[in-house]
Amino acid sequence: MPLCFYNSLSRKKEIFKPIQNDKVGLYTCGPTVYDEAHIGNFRTFIFEDLLKRYLLFRGYNVFHVMNITDVDDKTINRSREEHKPLNVITKKYSDQFFKDLAWLKIIPANVYPRATEHIPGMIQMISQLLDKGYAYKNDDGSVYFNIGCDPDYGRLVRIKLSEQRVTERMDNDEYEKDEPQDFVLWKSKKKDDGDVYWDSPWGPGRPGWHIECSAMSIQYLGEHFDLHCGGVDNKFPHHENEIAQSLYLRGKPFVNFWLHSEYLLVEGRKMSKSMGNYYRITDLRDMGFSAENIRYQLLSGHYRTKIIFSSAKKYQADKVLHRLSDFKERVTQNELISNDALIFPNEFHQFCSALNDDLDTPRAFAVYFDWMKKVNKKMDRSEESPELLLETKNFIDAFENIFGLLPQMEIIPPEIISLAKLRKEARGKGDWAIADGLRNEIEKHGFVVEDTIKGYKIKKV
Ligand code: AMP
Ligand code: ZN
Repeated sequence: MPLCFYNSLSRKKEIFKPIQNDKVGLYTCGPTVYDEAHIGNFRTFIFEDLLKRYLLFRGYNVFHVMNITDVDDKTINRSREEHKPLNVITKKYSDQFFKDLAWLKIIPANVYPRATEHIPGMIQMISQLLDKGYAYKNDDGSVYFNIGCDPDYGRLVRIKLSEQRVTERMDNDEYEKDEPQDFVLWKSKKKDDGDVYWDSPWGPGRPGWHIECSAMSIQYLGEHFDLHCGGVDNKFPHHENEIAQSLYLRGKPFVNFWLHSEYLLVEGRKMSKSMGNYYRITDLRDMGFSAENIRYQLLSGHYRTKIIFSSAKKYQADKVLHRLSDFKERVTQNELISNDALIFPNEFHQFCSALNDDLDTPRAFAVYFDWMKKVNKKMDRSEESPELLLETKNFIDAFENIFGLLPQMEIIPPEIISLAKLRKEARGKGDWAIADGLRNEIEKHGFVVEDTIKGYKIKKV
Protein backbone atom coordinates (compact mmCIF):
# COMPACT_ATOMS: atom_id res chain seq x y z
CA MET A 1 0.00 0.00 0.00
CA PRO A 2 1.42 3.46 -0.85
CA LEU A 3 1.76 5.99 1.95
CA CYS A 4 -1.64 7.60 2.53
CA PHE A 5 -2.88 10.19 4.98
CA TYR A 6 -6.40 11.28 5.77
CA ASN A 7 -6.63 14.85 4.57
CA SER A 8 -9.06 16.87 6.73
CA LEU A 9 -9.63 19.16 3.76
CA SER A 10 -10.89 16.51 1.32
CA ARG A 11 -12.11 14.17 4.11
CA LYS A 12 -10.45 11.31 2.26
CA LYS A 13 -7.32 9.24 2.49
CA GLU A 14 -4.98 10.50 -0.19
CA ILE A 15 -1.65 9.18 -1.45
CA PHE A 16 1.11 11.29 0.01
CA LYS A 17 3.62 12.70 -2.41
CA PRO A 18 5.89 15.57 -1.43
CA ILE A 19 5.93 18.69 -3.57
CA GLN A 20 9.70 18.42 -4.06
CA ASN A 21 11.14 14.92 -4.54
CA ASP A 22 12.08 13.58 -1.11
CA LYS A 23 11.78 16.89 0.79
CA VAL A 24 8.84 17.32 3.16
CA GLY A 25 7.80 20.66 4.69
CA LEU A 26 5.93 20.08 7.95
CA TYR A 27 4.29 22.77 10.08
CA THR A 28 2.80 21.87 13.44
CA CYS A 29 0.97 24.34 15.66
CA GLY A 30 2.98 24.64 18.84
CA PRO A 31 2.07 25.46 22.41
CA THR A 32 0.63 28.66 23.76
CA VAL A 33 3.15 29.31 26.50
CA TYR A 34 0.93 30.72 29.24
CA ASP A 35 1.09 27.57 31.40
CA GLU A 36 2.69 24.12 31.35
CA ALA A 37 1.53 21.96 28.45
CA HIS A 38 -0.72 19.04 29.48
CA ILE A 39 -0.92 15.45 28.37
CA GLY A 40 -3.73 16.39 25.90
CA ASN A 41 -1.36 18.76 24.11
CA PHE A 42 1.24 16.00 24.09
CA ARG A 43 -1.17 13.59 22.46
CA THR A 44 -1.04 15.92 19.48
CA PHE A 45 2.72 16.51 19.72
CA ILE A 46 3.40 12.76 19.97
CA PHE A 47 1.15 12.06 16.98
CA GLU A 48 3.17 14.65 15.06
CA ASP A 49 6.38 13.02 16.29
CA LEU A 50 5.15 9.67 14.98
CA LEU A 51 4.28 11.23 11.62
CA LYS A 52 7.73 12.77 11.39
CA ARG A 53 9.57 9.66 12.57
CA TYR A 54 7.73 7.56 10.00
CA LEU A 55 8.50 10.00 7.20
CA LEU A 56 12.17 10.01 8.27
CA PHE A 57 12.15 6.23 8.46
CA ARG A 58 10.86 6.11 4.88
CA GLY A 59 13.82 8.21 3.82
CA TYR A 60 12.16 11.62 3.48
CA ASN A 61 14.10 14.68 4.34
CA VAL A 62 11.72 16.46 6.72
CA PHE A 63 11.97 20.13 7.55
CA HIS A 64 9.82 20.64 10.62
CA VAL A 65 8.63 23.99 11.94
CA MET A 66 6.78 24.30 15.26
CA ASN A 67 5.77 27.76 16.36
CA ILE A 68 5.69 29.03 19.90
CA THR A 69 2.64 31.21 20.54
CA ASP A 70 4.14 33.74 22.89
CA VAL A 71 1.66 36.55 22.36
CA ASP A 72 -2.10 36.09 22.30
CA ASP A 73 -5.09 36.69 24.59
CA LYS A 74 -4.10 33.92 27.04
CA THR A 75 -0.43 34.88 27.44
CA ILE A 76 -1.32 38.55 27.93
CA ASN A 77 -3.98 37.67 30.53
CA ARG A 78 -1.50 35.51 32.44
CA SER A 79 1.13 38.25 32.41
CA ARG A 80 -1.44 40.72 33.77
CA GLU A 81 -2.70 38.29 36.45
CA GLU A 82 0.80 37.54 37.66
CA HIS A 83 2.05 41.14 37.35
CA LYS A 84 5.05 39.89 35.40
CA PRO A 85 6.35 41.01 31.99
CA LEU A 86 5.06 38.89 29.08
CA ASN A 87 8.54 37.60 28.19
CA VAL A 88 9.15 36.38 31.75
CA ILE A 89 5.95 34.31 31.65
CA THR A 90 6.52 32.93 28.15
CA LYS A 91 10.18 32.08 28.83
CA LYS A 92 9.28 30.15 31.95
CA TYR A 93 6.71 28.00 30.12
CA SER A 94 8.63 27.58 26.88
CA ASP A 95 11.70 26.39 28.87
CA GLN A 96 9.48 23.84 30.61
CA PHE A 97 7.98 22.82 27.25
CA PHE A 98 11.42 22.06 25.80
CA LYS A 99 12.30 20.00 28.88
CA ASP A 100 9.06 18.00 28.49
CA LEU A 101 9.71 17.45 24.78
CA ALA A 102 13.20 16.09 25.45
CA TRP A 103 12.00 13.85 28.29
CA LEU A 104 9.25 12.43 26.08
CA LYS A 105 11.84 11.64 23.37
CA ILE A 106 10.11 13.87 20.83
CA ILE A 107 12.52 14.62 17.99
CA PRO A 108 13.12 18.38 18.03
CA ALA A 109 11.79 20.54 15.20
CA ASN A 110 14.29 22.27 12.92
CA VAL A 111 13.02 25.66 14.06
CA TYR A 112 10.75 26.95 16.81
CA PRO A 113 9.79 30.44 15.62
CA ARG A 114 8.31 32.70 18.28
CA ALA A 115 5.45 34.94 17.27
CA THR A 116 6.99 38.01 18.96
CA GLU A 117 10.09 37.66 16.78
CA HIS A 118 8.11 37.61 13.51
CA ILE A 119 5.86 40.65 13.75
CA PRO A 120 7.20 42.35 10.53
CA GLY A 121 6.20 39.30 8.43
CA MET A 122 2.69 39.41 9.92
CA ILE A 123 2.37 43.14 9.23
CA GLN A 124 3.45 42.53 5.65
CA MET A 125 0.83 39.82 5.19
CA ILE A 126 -1.93 41.98 6.66
CA SER A 127 -0.92 44.81 4.31
CA GLN A 128 -1.23 42.46 1.33
CA LEU A 129 -4.69 41.37 2.47
CA LEU A 130 -5.74 45.02 2.82
CA ASP A 131 -4.30 45.89 -0.59
CA LYS A 132 -6.27 43.10 -2.24
CA GLY A 133 -9.48 44.11 -0.48
CA TYR A 134 -9.82 40.95 1.62
CA ALA A 135 -9.43 42.86 4.86
CA TYR A 136 -10.62 46.17 6.23
CA LYS A 137 -9.55 48.59 8.91
CA ASN A 138 -11.77 49.65 11.78
CA ASP A 139 -11.86 53.16 13.26
CA ASP A 140 -9.89 52.07 16.33
CA GLY A 141 -6.96 50.82 14.18
CA SER A 142 -7.84 47.12 14.29
CA VAL A 143 -7.82 45.18 11.02
CA TYR A 144 -10.28 42.38 10.22
CA PHE A 145 -10.46 39.71 7.57
CA ASN A 146 -13.72 39.87 5.62
CA ILE A 147 -14.89 36.26 5.45
CA GLY A 148 -17.54 37.28 2.91
CA CYS A 149 -14.69 37.56 0.37
CA ASP A 150 -14.05 33.85 0.60
CA PRO A 151 -16.86 31.89 -1.06
CA ASP A 152 -15.47 28.60 0.27
CA TYR A 153 -15.10 29.76 3.87
CA GLY A 154 -15.91 26.83 6.18
CA ARG A 155 -14.25 24.20 3.97
CA LEU A 156 -12.50 22.39 6.86
CA VAL A 157 -15.49 22.13 9.18
CA ARG A 158 -18.17 22.09 6.51
CA ILE A 159 -20.08 25.23 7.35
CA LYS A 160 -21.80 27.25 4.66
CA LEU A 161 -21.77 30.97 5.24
CA SER A 162 -25.04 31.36 3.33
CA GLU A 163 -26.76 29.13 5.90
CA GLN A 164 -25.25 30.81 8.92
CA ARG A 165 -26.06 33.91 10.83
CA VAL A 166 -22.81 35.73 10.29
CA THR A 167 -22.60 37.91 13.35
CA GLU A 168 -20.46 40.92 14.10
CA ARG A 169 -16.71 41.00 14.05
CA MET A 170 -14.72 38.82 16.41
CA ASP A 171 -11.81 40.08 18.46
CA ASN A 172 -11.18 36.87 20.42
CA ASP A 173 -8.71 34.31 19.13
CA GLU A 174 -11.03 31.38 19.83
CA TYR A 175 -14.78 30.98 19.18
CA GLU A 176 -17.25 28.32 18.06
CA LYS A 177 -17.99 27.27 14.50
CA ASP A 178 -21.65 28.22 14.72
CA GLU A 179 -20.51 31.83 14.98
CA PRO A 180 -18.42 32.41 11.85
CA GLN A 181 -17.33 36.03 11.90
CA ASP A 182 -14.88 38.45 10.41
CA PHE A 183 -11.81 37.72 12.46
CA VAL A 184 -9.15 40.02 13.71
CA LEU A 185 -5.77 40.23 11.95
CA TRP A 186 -4.39 43.16 13.91
CA LYS A 187 -5.72 44.15 17.34
CA SER A 188 -5.32 47.81 18.17
CA LYS A 189 -3.71 48.45 21.55
CA LYS A 190 -6.09 48.27 24.52
CA LYS A 191 -5.45 49.54 28.04
CA ASP A 192 -5.21 45.95 29.36
CA ASP A 193 -2.40 45.10 26.93
CA GLY A 194 0.04 47.20 29.00
CA ASP A 195 3.34 47.44 27.18
CA VAL A 196 2.59 44.54 24.84
CA TYR A 197 2.26 46.28 21.49
CA TRP A 198 4.13 46.92 18.25
CA ASP A 199 3.90 49.83 15.82
CA SER A 200 2.18 49.19 12.52
CA PRO A 201 0.83 51.23 9.57
CA TRP A 202 -2.58 51.07 11.37
CA GLY A 203 -1.30 52.20 14.74
CA PRO A 204 0.05 50.36 17.80
CA GLY A 205 -1.29 46.90 18.48
CA ARG A 206 -0.57 43.19 18.16
CA PRO A 207 -1.34 40.40 15.71
CA GLY A 208 -4.30 38.03 16.02
CA TRP A 209 -3.40 34.39 16.66
CA HIS A 210 -4.33 33.07 13.19
CA ILE A 211 -2.09 35.40 11.21
CA GLU A 212 0.84 34.37 13.42
CA CYS A 213 0.88 30.80 12.11
CA SER A 214 0.23 31.81 8.49
CA ALA A 215 3.11 34.28 8.47
CA MET A 216 5.57 31.94 10.22
CA SER A 217 4.71 28.86 8.16
CA ILE A 218 5.11 30.78 4.91
CA GLN A 219 8.35 32.41 6.07
CA TYR A 220 10.00 29.05 6.83
CA LEU A 221 8.32 26.67 4.40
CA GLY A 222 7.30 28.86 1.49
CA GLU A 223 3.84 29.65 0.10
CA HIS A 224 3.13 26.05 -0.85
CA PHE A 225 4.14 23.25 1.50
CA ASP A 226 3.26 19.66 2.27
CA LEU A 227 1.80 19.13 5.72
CA HIS A 228 0.13 21.21 8.38
CA CYS A 229 -1.00 19.56 11.62
CA GLY A 230 -2.64 20.21 14.95
CA GLY A 231 -5.31 18.85 17.26
CA VAL A 232 -8.97 18.81 16.09
CA ASP A 233 -9.69 21.95 18.07
CA ASN A 234 -7.29 23.77 15.75
CA LYS A 235 -9.56 23.13 12.74
CA PHE A 236 -11.89 25.95 13.64
CA PRO A 237 -11.37 28.81 13.74
CA HIS A 238 -7.56 28.59 13.64
CA HIS A 239 -6.84 26.54 10.52
CA GLU A 240 -10.00 27.65 8.74
CA ASN A 241 -8.82 31.22 9.14
CA GLU A 242 -5.28 30.37 8.11
CA ILE A 243 -6.62 28.99 4.85
CA ALA A 244 -8.83 32.04 4.33
CA GLN A 245 -5.83 34.34 4.90
CA SER A 246 -3.93 32.56 2.20
CA LEU A 247 -6.49 33.95 -0.24
CA TYR A 248 -4.00 36.64 -1.12
CA LEU A 249 -2.21 33.77 -2.82
CA ARG A 250 -5.33 33.21 -4.92
CA GLY A 251 -4.65 30.89 -7.81
CA LYS A 252 -1.79 29.19 -5.99
CA PRO A 253 -2.13 26.14 -3.75
CA PHE A 254 -1.27 26.62 -0.05
CA VAL A 255 -0.97 23.44 2.08
CA ASN A 256 -1.44 20.01 0.47
CA PHE A 257 -2.35 17.96 3.56
CA TRP A 258 -4.10 19.04 6.77
CA LEU A 259 -3.84 16.37 9.48
CA HIS A 260 -5.62 16.58 12.82
CA SER A 261 -5.40 14.32 15.84
CA GLU A 262 -8.45 13.66 18.01
CA TYR A 263 -8.85 14.69 21.61
CA LEU A 264 -7.35 12.99 24.55
CA LEU A 265 -10.09 12.55 27.12
CA VAL A 266 -10.02 12.31 30.85
CA GLU A 267 -13.06 10.78 32.50
CA GLY A 268 -14.89 11.02 29.19
CA ARG A 269 -14.28 14.76 28.77
CA LYS A 270 -11.77 16.74 26.75
CA MET A 271 -8.78 17.51 28.90
CA SER A 272 -8.04 21.19 28.93
CA LYS A 273 -6.36 23.80 31.02
CA SER A 274 -9.49 25.93 31.17
CA MET A 275 -11.53 23.03 32.64
CA GLY A 276 -8.78 22.23 35.15
CA ASN A 277 -9.01 18.44 34.49
CA TYR A 278 -5.53 17.85 33.23
CA TYR A 279 -2.18 16.22 33.97
CA ARG A 280 1.08 18.00 33.29
CA ILE A 281 4.12 15.96 32.34
CA THR A 282 5.71 16.87 35.67
CA ASP A 283 2.59 15.47 37.47
CA LEU A 284 2.90 12.21 35.56
CA ARG A 285 6.61 11.91 36.33
CA ASP A 286 5.81 12.36 40.01
CA MET A 287 3.21 9.59 39.68
CA GLY A 288 5.94 7.24 38.41
CA PHE A 289 5.13 7.26 34.70
CA SER A 290 8.05 6.68 32.37
CA ALA A 291 8.29 8.55 29.07
CA GLU A 292 7.82 5.21 27.28
CA ASN A 293 4.65 4.44 29.22
CA ILE A 294 3.14 7.78 28.19
CA ARG A 295 4.26 7.32 24.58
CA TYR A 296 2.77 3.83 24.48
CA GLN A 297 -0.60 4.95 25.88
CA LEU A 298 -0.78 7.83 23.43
CA LEU A 299 0.35 5.83 20.40
CA SER A 300 -1.64 2.65 20.93
CA GLY A 301 -4.86 4.35 19.81
CA HIS A 302 -5.25 5.58 16.25
CA TYR A 303 -4.58 9.31 16.06
CA ARG A 304 -8.05 10.00 14.62
CA THR A 305 -9.92 8.31 17.48
CA LYS A 306 -10.53 9.75 20.90
CA ILE A 307 -8.49 8.04 23.57
CA ILE A 308 -8.73 8.07 27.32
CA PHE A 309 -5.52 8.50 29.24
CA SER A 310 -5.64 6.94 32.65
CA SER A 311 -3.35 6.06 35.51
CA ALA A 312 -5.20 2.71 35.69
CA LYS A 313 -3.64 1.79 32.32
CA LYS A 314 -0.13 2.39 33.63
CA TYR A 315 0.41 -1.15 34.94
CA GLN A 316 -0.78 -2.78 31.70
CA ALA A 317 1.40 -0.45 29.59
CA ASP A 318 4.45 -1.20 31.76
CA LYS A 319 3.88 -4.93 31.22
CA VAL A 320 3.85 -4.48 27.45
CA LEU A 321 6.97 -2.32 27.59
CA HIS A 322 8.81 -4.95 29.62
CA ARG A 323 7.92 -7.55 27.01
CA LEU A 324 9.35 -5.26 24.32
CA SER A 325 12.62 -4.60 26.13
CA ASP A 326 13.09 -8.22 27.27
CA PHE A 327 12.71 -9.26 23.66
CA LYS A 328 15.30 -6.77 22.46
CA GLU A 329 17.65 -7.81 25.23
CA ARG A 330 17.21 -11.48 24.39
CA VAL A 331 18.03 -10.87 20.74
CA THR A 332 20.95 -8.52 21.22
CA GLN A 333 22.65 -10.90 23.67
CA ASN A 334 23.39 -13.10 20.67
CA GLU A 335 26.31 -12.77 18.35
CA LEU A 336 24.90 -11.17 15.23
CA ILE A 337 26.42 -11.84 11.85
CA SER A 338 28.48 -8.82 10.93
CA ASN A 339 26.44 -7.99 7.91
CA ASP A 340 24.52 -4.78 7.43
CA ALA A 341 22.08 -6.38 4.98
CA LEU A 342 18.67 -4.84 5.52
CA ILE A 343 16.76 -8.09 5.59
CA PHE A 344 13.37 -8.10 7.28
CA PRO A 345 10.80 -10.76 8.17
CA ASN A 346 7.60 -10.94 6.11
CA GLU A 347 5.62 -9.43 8.97
CA PHE A 348 7.61 -6.22 8.54
CA HIS A 349 5.77 -5.58 5.25
CA GLN A 350 2.38 -5.96 6.96
CA PHE A 351 3.63 -3.62 9.65
CA CYS A 352 4.59 -0.98 7.05
CA SER A 353 1.27 -1.45 5.23
CA ALA A 354 -0.53 -0.63 8.47
CA LEU A 355 1.50 2.53 8.97
CA ASN A 356 1.17 3.49 5.31
CA ASP A 357 -2.57 3.33 5.85
CA ASP A 358 -2.89 6.68 7.61
CA LEU A 359 -0.56 5.65 10.47
CA ASP A 360 -2.68 2.77 11.73
CA THR A 361 -0.71 2.22 14.93
CA PRO A 362 -3.11 -0.32 16.56
CA ARG A 363 -2.75 -2.61 13.51
CA ALA A 364 1.03 -2.09 13.33
CA PHE A 365 1.37 -2.93 17.06
CA ALA A 366 -0.76 -6.07 16.62
CA VAL A 367 1.46 -7.29 13.76
CA TYR A 368 4.62 -6.60 15.77
CA PHE A 369 3.42 -8.31 18.96
CA ASP A 370 2.26 -11.44 17.07
CA TRP A 371 5.59 -11.64 15.27
CA MET A 372 7.48 -11.13 18.54
CA LYS A 373 5.61 -14.08 20.09
CA LYS A 374 6.57 -16.27 17.11
CA VAL A 375 10.26 -15.35 17.32
CA ASN A 376 10.30 -15.89 21.09
CA LYS A 377 8.91 -19.40 20.54
CA LYS A 378 11.61 -20.12 17.95
CA MET A 379 14.28 -18.92 20.36
CA ASP A 380 12.78 -21.09 23.14
CA ARG A 381 13.39 -24.04 20.82
CA SER A 382 16.93 -22.73 20.05
CA GLU A 383 16.00 -22.24 16.39
CA GLU A 384 17.71 -18.88 16.04
CA SER A 385 19.62 -18.93 12.76
CA PRO A 386 21.98 -16.02 12.01
CA GLU A 387 19.49 -14.76 9.39
CA LEU A 388 16.60 -14.90 11.84
CA LEU A 389 18.64 -12.93 14.37
CA LEU A 390 19.61 -10.31 11.82
CA GLU A 391 16.10 -9.76 10.44
CA THR A 392 14.78 -9.69 13.99
CA LYS A 393 17.32 -7.07 15.02
CA ASN A 394 16.45 -4.98 11.95
CA PHE A 395 12.72 -5.10 12.71
CA ILE A 396 13.33 -4.20 16.38
CA ASP A 397 15.47 -1.22 15.30
CA ALA A 398 12.81 -0.06 12.82
CA PHE A 399 10.09 -0.35 15.47
CA GLU A 400 12.19 1.62 17.91
CA ASN A 401 13.05 4.36 15.39
CA ILE A 402 9.37 4.81 14.61
CA PHE A 403 7.88 4.60 18.12
CA GLY A 404 10.64 5.33 20.65
CA LEU A 405 9.26 2.86 23.21
CA LEU A 406 12.40 1.24 24.55
CA PRO A 407 14.35 2.71 27.44
CA GLN A 408 18.04 3.34 26.83
CA MET A 409 19.72 -0.04 27.13
CA GLU A 410 23.19 -0.99 28.23
CA ILE A 411 25.43 -1.70 25.28
CA ILE A 412 27.17 -5.06 25.64
CA PRO A 413 30.50 -5.04 23.77
CA PRO A 414 30.79 -7.72 21.03
CA GLU A 415 33.84 -9.34 22.72
CA ILE A 416 31.76 -9.99 25.86
CA ILE A 417 28.98 -11.50 23.71
CA SER A 418 31.60 -13.81 22.08
CA LEU A 419 32.99 -14.88 25.48
CA ALA A 420 29.46 -15.67 26.70
CA LYS A 421 28.80 -17.70 23.57
CA LEU A 422 32.05 -19.70 24.07
CA ARG A 423 31.05 -20.29 27.70
CA LYS A 424 27.67 -21.64 26.56
CA GLU A 425 29.41 -24.01 24.14
CA ALA A 426 31.82 -25.16 26.87
CA ARG A 427 28.92 -25.84 29.24
CA GLY A 428 27.13 -27.73 26.48
CA LYS A 429 30.14 -30.05 26.21
CA GLY A 430 30.55 -30.35 29.98
CA ASP A 431 33.89 -28.46 29.95
CA TRP A 432 33.14 -26.87 33.32
CA ALA A 433 36.66 -25.58 34.01
CA ILE A 434 36.75 -23.77 30.67
CA ALA A 435 33.26 -22.38 31.29
CA ASP A 436 34.31 -21.07 34.72
CA GLY A 437 37.45 -19.50 33.24
CA LEU A 438 35.32 -17.69 30.67
CA ARG A 439 32.93 -16.50 33.37
CA ASN A 440 35.91 -15.01 35.27
CA GLU A 441 37.17 -13.36 32.11
CA ILE A 442 33.74 -11.77 31.54
CA GLU A 443 33.66 -10.55 35.17
CA LYS A 444 37.09 -8.95 34.80
CA HIS A 445 35.52 -6.72 32.13
CA GLY A 446 32.76 -5.64 34.52
CA PHE A 447 29.93 -7.95 33.30
CA VAL A 448 28.18 -11.01 34.73
CA VAL A 449 26.41 -13.89 32.98
CA GLU A 450 23.26 -15.22 34.56
CA ASP A 451 21.80 -18.55 33.48
CA THR A 452 18.02 -18.53 33.07
CA ILE A 453 15.53 -21.06 31.66
CA LYS A 454 15.50 -19.03 28.45
CA GLY A 455 19.31 -19.10 28.14
CA TYR A 456 21.98 -16.79 29.53
CA LYS A 457 21.69 -13.08 30.21
CA ILE A 458 24.64 -10.67 30.29
CA LYS A 459 24.48 -7.72 32.66
CA LYS A 460 26.80 -4.91 33.69
CA VAL A 461 27.95 -5.30 37.31
P1 AMP B 1 -2.43 25.12 22.79
O1 AMP B 1 -1.24 25.19 23.72
O2 AMP B 1 -3.75 25.22 23.49
O3 AMP B 1 -2.31 26.10 21.65
O4 AMP B 1 -2.44 23.65 22.13
C1 AMP B 1 -1.32 23.05 21.55
C2 AMP B 1 -1.78 21.83 20.77
O5 AMP B 1 -2.41 20.86 21.62
C3 AMP B 1 -2.79 22.14 19.65
O6 AMP B 1 -2.43 21.42 18.48
C4 AMP B 1 -4.11 21.64 20.23
O7 AMP B 1 -4.99 21.26 19.19
C5 AMP B 1 -3.65 20.43 21.03
N1 AMP B 1 -4.59 20.04 22.12
C6 AMP B 1 -5.10 20.82 23.11
N2 AMP B 1 -5.91 20.10 23.95
C7 AMP B 1 -5.91 18.82 23.48
C8 AMP B 1 -6.52 17.57 23.87
N3 AMP B 1 -7.29 17.47 24.97
N4 AMP B 1 -6.31 16.47 23.13
C9 AMP B 1 -5.51 16.52 22.04
N5 AMP B 1 -4.88 17.65 21.59
C10 AMP B 1 -5.07 18.79 22.29
ZN1 ZN C 1 -1.18 27.48 14.56
